[in-house]
Order: sequence, then structure tokens, then C-alpha cells
Amino acid sequence: MQENSPTTETALQDFPGRLRATIGRAAGNGGIISAAVVRHTCEALEIDVEQLMLRLVPVAAAYGVAPVSRYPVGAVARGTREDSHGYAQLYLGANMEFPGRALCYSLHAEQAAVANAWNSREPGLSSLAVSAPPCGLCRQFLHELSESRPLRVVFPDGARRDYCETDTAALLPGAFGPTDLGHKGNMMAVNDAPATLPSAIDGADPLFLDALEAARFSYAPYTGNRAGCALQLEDGSVFSGSYAENAAHNPGLSPLHAALSNMRMALGPGALPAAFTKLARCVLVESTADISQRQLLATLLSSFAADVALEYHPLRADNN
Ligand SMILES: [Zn+2]
Repeated sequence: MQENSPTTETALQDFPGRLRATIGRAAGNGGIISAAVVRHTCEALEIDVEQLMLRLVPVAAAYGVAPVSRYPVGAVARGTREDSHGYAQLYLGANMEFPGRALCYSLHAEQAAVANAWNSREPGLSSLAVSAPPCGLCRQFLHELSESRPLRVVFPDGARRDYCETDTAALLPGAFGPTDLGHKGNMMAVNDAPATLPSAIDGADPLFLDALEAARFSYAPYTGNRAGCALQLEDGSVFSGSYAENAAHNPGLSPLHAALSNMRMALGPGALPAAFTKLARCVLVESTADISQRQLLATLLSSFAADVALEYHPLRADNN
């Protein structure tokens, strides 16, 4: 894959020199900015958290993998777990595109930021910063986070060094959502109440167990297709991701997209194309249902690691 993402160094130019190393180190830590660094930076720059989030959007975009559009996009999500000072962690995310596959396989930056926070077991988000109002797919995807508590969204306000604020209810008026299907619709709440799939199996392959753990934390209220994916590189490092489905079906997140995004955030900007050649294994665990992730994962996997076969482990539906 070709890359044209801005470098982290370029993206950090907006920060005073004394803060660049701090933010750069924090951003390299899986694209997660700790609450302590958030507080320190906000106090040093005399800005609020959402102003900081907007300044971090270009840093997030440095993780973008955009060989099709040449248009790296970043997003920054704020978790809800606050420290004693009232600050929460920030999670970076960026887009990801797959040459040779249809555009519907693309991962959007907002989805990646949510996947990053979700993978850190955040039970919710309090706001999201983006470079421009989210696209229609992301509005529907974000609507699934919590239908009863709209997500605050901020984006730059043109020439003024300030920001516009809105929320998912205003961005998606008259939305079709979980309640239309008889569900509460709180995707990240599974972090507080994971599924009762078996959490350990004697003698089981460790990578299978990683995928199973990701499946336990998946969100599949409409089909029951609990699914998790685990990737292993040749050096033994492991990255996993959970499936998230959507009331409107198409804006969901496959477990492989989530795992790839989490891997990309952990390895750092620009690492992903080379890391694809180091991929050793890809495991999918899913509970049997009327749908399956298997063909989507096999098709996507073959686009960047043609010599890696998808290892597939269905679980009987009565394990849900
Ligand atoms: Zn989008």
C-alpha cells in the first residue's frame, strides 16, 4: 500500500516545542492520550479539552492509511472514565482503505476512534472531535453508541480559532435506530456486561482465546452473531477486535476491521503496510447465527495477506 499521510512530526507543529515530545510519546502509545497528559497539556496551553482534541485531529490523521482516496482523516474520542480531576483519556483514530476491494470495505476515522476506546474497555464516549461534520455512515454508526444520550461532536469553525459543536441527535434528525427494533442501543455498554461465551477452554490455542475474548465484548443485539478476531505477527505480538453491528446493518464494524485498526494504532503511523508482510495468523471466533463474518474476513484478509488463511472457529448458538 502506498501512503501519503502527514507525519506525526508535521502534525505536532501546532504544539509548542516543550509539549511536542510529551504528546508525541502519548500518541505513540496506541493512539491513547492519558488523562494526566490531557490535563497537563490543557493547563499549559490554557485551552479546554475539546480545543485540545481538535488540535490532536491532525496527529490522529497521521495514522491514516489512504492509498485509494489519498485523503487521510483523523478523529479523536473522549472517554467517560474520569480521574479525580475530571479528566478522561483521549483515543485517536484514522481512516483505512483497501486497494483491490470495494469502497464499502473502507474504515472511517470515527469508527477507528470508537474502536480504540472500545478496545480499552471504555463504557462510553462524552465527545468526539473531527476535521469536518461526520459523513452519513458515521452519523448512523455513532447513533448506535447511545440513542438516549446523543454524542457531542466538535469540529473547526472556519477562520476563527474556535470550534462548532453539535451532537448526533442534531446530525441525524428522525433517525432510524435501535429503539425501532426494540433495543436500547448502547454499543459500548457491552464493556460493562460482556457476553457469556466460554471465557476459557482447557488446552485451547492462546490466539483462539484472544479472539474468543474479543467475541465476548462484541455487540450483536440484532443477530446474536457474537464475533471476535485476533491477529498475530511473526514476532508473536497479538491484536484483537470485536464485531459491532448497527440497526441499519451497513454501518457496522467487522471484527477484522477493528483488529486491524487497533494493530495500526499500536504499531504507530506508517507501520501498517510493512506489518502486513509480517502477519502470521488471523483467527475468527463467532457464534453461529443467521449471518456470518467469515466470507467478509476471508475477502478482506486476502487483499493484504494472500498467503495467510483465515482460521475459523464457529461456536454453537446455545453458547450465547
Ligand atoms: Zn464517515
